[in-house]
Amino acid sequence: MSNDAAHPATLPDDAAPEKRDFIRQIVREDLASGRHVAVKTRFPPEPNGYLHIGHAKAICLDFGIAAEFGGVCNLRLDDTNPAKEDPEYVRAIQDDVRWLGFDWHDLRHASDYFEVLYLAAEKLIRQGDAFVCDLSADEVRAYRGTLTEPGRDSPYRDRSVEENLDLFRRMRAGEFPDGARTLRAKIDMASGNINLRDPALYRIKHVEHQNTGNDWPIYPMYDYAHSLSDAVEGITHSLCTLEFEDHRPLYDWCVDKVDLANSPDLLAPLLAKGLPKEASKPRQIEFSRLNFNYLVMSKRKLLAMVNDRLVDGWDDPRMPTLQGIRRRGYTPAALRLMVDRVGISKQNSLLDIGILEGALREDLDAAAPRRMAVIDPVKLVLANLPDGHEETLTFSNHPKDASFGQRSVPFSRELWIEREDFEEVPPKGFKRLTTGGEVRLRGAGIVRCDEVIKNDAGEIVELRGWLDPESRPGMAGAERKIKGTIHWVSAMHAVAAEIRLYDRLFTVPNPDDESEGKTYRDYMNPDSRRTVTGYVEPAAASAAPEQSFQFERTGYFVADRYDHTPERPVFNRSVTLRDTWATKA
Ligand code: ATP
Ligand code: MG
Repeated sequence: MSNDAAHPATLPDDAAPEKRDFIRQIVREDLASGRHVAVKTRFPPEPNGYLHIGHAKAICLDFGIAAEFGGVCNLRLDDTNPAKEDPEYVRAIQDDVRWLGFDWHDLRHASDYFEVLYLAAEKLIRQGDAFVCDLSADEVRAYRGTLTEPGRDSPYRDRSVEENLDLFRRMRAGEFPDGARTLRAKIDMASGNINLRDPALYRIKHVEHQNTGNDWPIYPMYDYAHSLSDAVEGITHSLCTLEFEDHRPLYDWCVDKVDLANSPDLLAPLLAKGLPKEASKPRQIEFSRLNFNYLVMSKRKLLAMVNDRLVDGWDDPRMPTLQGIRRRGYTPAALRLMVDRVGISKQNSLLDIGILEGALREDLDAAAPRRMAVIDPVKLVLANLPDGHEETLTFSNHPKDASFGQRSVPFSRELWIEREDFEEVPPKGFKRLTTGGEVRLRGAGIVRCDEVIKNDAGEIVELRGWLDPESRPGMAGAERKIKGTIHWVSAMHAVAAEIRLYDRLFTVPNPDDESEGKTYRDYMNPDSRRTVTGYVEPAAASAAPEQSFQFERTGYFVADRYDHTPERPVFNRSVTLRDTWATKA
């Protein structure tokens, strides 16, 4: 399953300035010194959930570095834990990587290498570097020692090569039940690094695998499979997050002891799959995870939120999954901008969500056409216009970029305006419409409110006003100085739309903090979604799904990816125009 033969990674935005973080510096030096002739990276998600904003950082780094240095990047599904993996996730991962603007050289699975990994394990056994251990999981734990105490050798550590080979082959043949035995590396039970205390390389698990079916009753452990998969693929720089720093000695141990680059016989099974035999000695480099406040990003918690219906699914627009924020209206360009801003370091930190929202505002300010929409409508009748009056005005689609062109906006005697743009008793400094006061109707003229009509409950149901006939577009009177401008839509032409006003899913900066005896579930924002019916101008209703707009004075909105149709428009609020949360708090 590979793309066309040599598919160099391409950058979505090649005008970006050269980046100089420590990883790119290492890559630059390795190329300059001739240690590598070309760069090869991989993005290795485990298909046990949907990708999230944190993964966007890893994707931009893995694919971005390959592209910048003329190399290639593989997408590798790290599918060594069959019980938790699902083809649904495999599909979504591919969709997300492409959406972010990247394409892989080869699509691989760790399971493509199960045969190679098995042969490599036999090699380790023959070298005296691995043994079959009969300790139970509890016993292994007891033998392992602690951070301050060394572990003890397993009583099975000195089995002969012949006995180990025989037992391992019988493990592979499915002779033993789950958990009865493991294959363990023979390294050092006294190592200060617990990862090196004879770690398990294989476990017995009679579970069907989403890619290999029932071929294997044993599965390789993460560190073993990951390091050797990198080597099999000829990866030069294996980038991962900081929690793997302590695993690097084991990673290197596996790569060195198996030495795939000099063991063509171990690579023979690849031929049968039509895969190239091009093993390397990869180098692991760690960088900090991306974490934002006001979100949770662990796949385990996201899965629980989906299963317990705290949200509407993986692609709920409030979720930090790539499918979720895509539906919310985040753009690939905004995410790439955010990743560039955040930079690459070895310092883990909880970043302010404002960085993410700010990147979206910046991208959409430049990229989103403007439209008018009224979210909380109240009717304004221009009583001095004749009944049935209608006309067509011309608006530019973007105030700062003429290339967006112009559109027709219908105007008529009855308008919808925003309820909050009228105050009977205006607070000090109020610049919008009041009884007897004037306001500019964006692009249409100046209106004075003469009358407020209320229902029996005292609620305003209609405003009646007078449109200054000398203030129409192009007339000298249009220049008259007026304090405020409000947006509107023509009641006769506007289309009723479902508008989903999204807000943050959590009310506290660190929902993962359990120190008060609470969990993230206690901090869910009850107002994270409010659905209202508003009115949008025809040129917004007719949008294609996933088209983003700035609704003037209101925020950035996107036509819902799944539910929007021109007849029944549905818009999701992606982000407010300004950081209103900061002022609310
Ligand atoms: P989680 O802990 O959220 O379940 P994970 O690390 O188990 O995520 P993987 O599918 O193993 O998820 O991750 C694939 C790649 O993405 C790995 O290289 C991992 O280091 C990287 N990655 C995962 N989460 C983040 C993050 N928050 N920031 C940056 N990179 C990440
Ligand atoms: Mg993982």
